[in-house]
Amino acid sequence: MDCVVCNKRKKDFEVWSNKIVIAATYDSKVQDHNVIRKLSEHEIICHDCMQKILDEVDETRV
Ligand SMILES: [Zn+2]
Repeated sequence: MDCVVCNKRKKDFEVWSNKIVIAATYDSKVQDHNVIRKLSEHEIICHDCMQKILDEVDETRV
């Protein structure tokens, strides 16, 4: 599987699927992020890119 953000090939345990993101975060700010919104059911994000998204979302919090 390739990460939709960095296009690197990743193993199953290194990635977040759309469902995992939604189940694991329960966070509307994360789910509203551009990348997450575009994520289809068949696409995945690697841990590194997911962490960047979480950091970006945290920066928008006051
Ligand atoms: Zn990635």
